[in-house]
Amino acid sequence: MRVHHLVAGRMAPPLGPPIICHVLLVEHPDGLTLVDSGLGRGDLADPQRLGPARHLLRPQAGVTAIDAVEAAGFDPSDVAHVVLTHLDFDHVGGAVDFPHATWHTTAAEWAAATSDIKAVEKTRYRSAHLGGSPIVQRHAGQGDPWRHGLSAIEVLDGITLVPMIGHTRGHAAVTVQGESGLVVHAGDAVFDASHYDPTLAKVGILRAFEKSVARIPKRLRTNHSALAALHTDPDATVINAHDTRVFPGAPG
Ligand SMILES: [Zn+2]
Repeated sequence: MRVHHLVAGRMAPPLGPPIICHVLLVEHPDGLTLVDSGLGRGDLADPQRLGPARHLLRPQAGVTAIDAVEAAGFDPSDVAHVVLTHLDFDHVGGAVDFPHATWHTTAAEWAAATSDIKAVEKTRYRSAHLGGSPIVQRHAGQGDPWRHGLSAIEVLDGITLVPMIGHTRGHAAVTVQGESGLVVHAGDAVFDASHYDPTLAKVGILRAFEKSVARIPKRLRTNHSALAALHTDPDATVINAHDTRVFPGAPG
């Protein structure tokens, strides 16, 4: 399967470096498939619907998933699936621009964001994205044993959710068996890519931000270790959502 890397959002936090919403567009036999979806047109037209966190992240105008899909030469109506690492607004916001697509998420994340929402999570999950009637396939359980002590749930041929809770209660990495090897989209299981790629410089502000927004902070180190192990697998490429340095072609 061909895998395209797209920028589906740009944000300029006042306290840190510019960050992106790094998503994948997979040419899957079952239809074009997005892995994460960044921001949507409605989010940029009406940023208030993102809640108070918009002040921390400051989404920039003009960059959304649907714009990125079009710019890559694809018809947005051909997007059949959106596989989500989690349901924070900067990952699910763009999905609403593909109303015919089936969303895939862990059952734990869907529950955390909809039926079992806690006060501490109210600002991260937004009714503008989750309050409509999306077609959602919820994937329960841990899946089958996989690499480095992790497990994997196959959601489509060659695409899996790898449960990696911590940032949120139902967060998962997403793996795609691409034509050039395995791509592991870590989502927000890590913010500073130097946690898994020691050739990169440490970015303290990203590390501090990650800790401040983690739902289960004690899980972060476990996730970073697993991603570092995956990074050493010769067939695997690990990326994460927000670190601009791991976008293909970015200066290191
Ligand atoms: Zn995020």
